[in-house]
This record gives sequence, structure tokens and C-alpha cells, in this order.
Amino acid sequence: MLGTLKSVAVAPAELEGAFSEGIGFDGSSIDGFARVYEADMLLRPDASTFQVLPWRGENPGTARMFADILLPNGSPSLADPRDVLRRALTKAGDLGFTFYTHPEIEFYLFEKELRRDRPVPVDSAGFFDHVPHGTAHDFRRAAITMLENMGISVEFSHHEGGPGQNEIDLRYADALSMADNIQTFKAVVKEVALEQGYFASFMAKPMAGEPGSGMHTHLSLFEGDTNAFHEPGAPYQLSRTGRHFIAGLLRYAPEFTAITNQYVNSYKRLWGGAEAPAHICWGHNNRSAMVRVPMYKPSKGQSTRVEVRSLDAAANPYLAYSVLLCAGLKGIEDELDLPPEAEDDVWNLTERERRAMGIEPLPASLDEAIRTMEESDFVAEVLGEHVFDFVLRNKRAEWAAYRDQVTEFEIKQDLRRL
Ligand code: GLU
Ligand code: MG
Repeated sequence: MLGTLKSVAVAPAELEGAFSEGIGFDGSSIDGFARVYEADMLLRPDASTFQVLPWRGENPGTARMFADILLPNGSPSLADPRDVLRRALTKAGDLGFTFYTHPEIEFYLFEKELRRDRPVPVDSAGFFDHVPHGTAHDFRRAAITMLENMGISVEFSHHEGGPGQNEIDLRYADALSMADNIQTFKAVVKEVALEQGYFASFMAKPMAGEPGSGMHTHLSLFEGDTNAFHEPGAPYQLSRTGRHFIAGLLRYAPEFTAITNQYVNSYKRLWGGAEAPAHICWGHNNRSAMVRVPMYKPSKGQSTRVEVRSLDAAANPYLAYSVLLCAGLKGIEDELDLPPEAEDDVWNLTERERRAMGIEPLPASLDEAIRTMEESDFVAEVLGEHVFDFVLRNKRAEWAAYRDQVTEFEIKQDLRRL
């Protein structure tokens, strides 16, 4: 449920049975899936996701499929994050919408060995830097070739702002395919990094003082072939539907942040500056805003879209896309009004100025995010009670374990002084 991949291998002879009856497994051994007395669960492979795994070699080849999780009676398990997203997409479908996403995924490449328990970036380059003989070029080329071989289209890639930090943007796809693609993407990036003697991390803020890794995602709703966010002549060519959608994102942001930013460490990125947003507002060319309406290309009406910048690369994409979609849909259904856009760099305003403008902060810590989510009927409904309770329990435990730590910061600051 936190989005870490699990797998089971089957021989070709078992496949037919896997499709007709499913593959049984003990759900109680997987965190969050089932209580011991309802342990039996089934995996049913989704044939549309069949791909050969290039890094496993050709002889014999290995392929994979994503699987849906079912109860023994064949009904979907309420603990399956894919099913949570499918339910959200059905809700959108009932309103006549299909939902597309396009993520910009950031991550760091580090040397294999840590130095004094700290990660060591593979280079010291920065944003868009072209490094001659750079490790990152070869890495990105190998990773992208592998992704394309697996049917995942990459739009572009570049060095990001931090040392060793890279970004790869995937071409838009429907949200369920994209969530699967993100899982594949992370596996490929980690495999290629290991092959080249490094490791890759999608942790939100691996180094203090350096940029974090976001997963800014561009969202759009289509009605048939028509982009529901596009209205020629409107400000930023953004339709009423688009404005309500953004209003929904802003309205429910405090409640869903424990899902889009699910770790203790996520809040160090959100509050660490460096182009990560910490305040609930929207803007056009404003990279400090949580939601941005990117520049419109006059020739491309279909490209009007909404970019959410708070989401980080360590989120579970199935659950994160579910809460973002449903928040936007609530905005449309309830015709929520969009507040005025924020034109300033919100980081440079004082707390008072922000308050006067009605700009609220995002939760400051995992603790605050969980406490806000706990009270949310909205998130409970989107995730379903089972996933909702599991995430809360898991995250409360993470917070409690974190709170028990005596950190390097405290030792440095206080041990001798006090
Ligand atoms: N790394 C930044 C973040 O954590 C984003 C940089 C960018 O604008 O692409 O959100
Ligand atoms: Mg970026």
C-alpha cells in the first residue's frame, strides 16, 4: 500500500491457471492486506500489462504482468491500490471524463558506498548541465532505451538542480497505465543504476541543503477527444471545469497531503525551499505555487493542463493519483470557486502577507498531515476504509519511531552547550 513493488514468479505452464483461477497467496504476510483469519487471496495477472524484462536477458527470457488482487470469491480486494485508482477512474467516467497524467520524475544517482552514512552524488553538475563524459548521460540513455523497449515513452530528460540529480519525463497516458509505468520506471532506473555501479534513490530529500526530488504531475481531463480544461479566449485558456478542478485540489490539499507526501522525510523537501511548494495556492508562471497552469502553446489547445508540484517521487502513484483526481472532481461537482492566483514568489512573502492573501501552508510534518487526514471524510471515501485505516496506522507508527530518535542536529546543537 505504500507503493513498494512485490512480485511472485510463475513458470509458463502455470499461466493458464493464473488467468482462469488466479494465483493464491497468503495475504496476511503482506503488510496491510488481510487479517490472519481472511488470509487467502488471489492474484490475477492483467494481460494488457505484459512486457518482457530487458534486464533479465534473453535465454531464458522473463516477462512480467501487473496483477489485480482478488478475494477468494473473485471480488476485488479493497486493499488493492490498483483497485482504489480504478474506482476513482470509474467515478470520473460516470461524469464523462477520462483522466490523463504526465509526471516529471526526479531522482538522485549516488555512488554505491555511503561515506560516513551519507550518500555521495555521482557528479557535481546542476540544472540542464551537459557534462562531457558525464555518468548521467550514459545512465539516462541506457535507462530511456530500456523504458522505450518496454513500451514506456519518454518525453525528455535532463540533469536536475542537485548534484547527481536527474529528471525523466514520461509522455502522458491514462492514469492507471501511468501508475503502472511509474512502478516500472522506478524498477528500471534502479536496475540500470546498479548495472552501472551506482544506486538510484527516489527519496524525497536525501541531502539537507540540496533540492529534493519531486514528481510534479500534469493532469488533464478529456471528454471524448476534447480537453475539458481548454477554453479558447479564457484567461490561460483555462475552462470553468479547469478552474473548479484546481479549486478542488486546493480545498482538499491539507487532507490528502499524507498520501501525496507519505514519509517523515517528505516534509523536509516541502519545507526546504528549492522550488518545492509549501503553500496552498495556484499560479501561472509561479514555481513556488502548489498548482501551476503551465504556459499555453497557441497551436495546441489539447495541451491545456494543470501541474501539481507538491507530489514527491516517493509517493504511491496509485493512491496519489486517486486523491488528486477525486479532489478535482469534487471541485467540479461542487462548483468550487477558484481563489485569485498568486503572482509573487510565496516563499518571499511574510507569514502575515500570506495570511492576508488567504494563502494557507501545507502540513508542516507527517504528524500534522496524518492528524488532518484522520478527520477527512473525503480521503476515507476515496481510499475506502480499509486502505485509509492501514495508511493511518502505518504512518502513525512511522511518526512515533521518528519521534524516538535523538538526531545529529540535537547532539551538535546541545550536547556540549547544555
Ligand atoms: N526539485 C524540485 C522539487 O522538489 C523541483 C525542481 C523543478 O522545478 O523541476 O519540487
Ligand atoms: Mg524538475
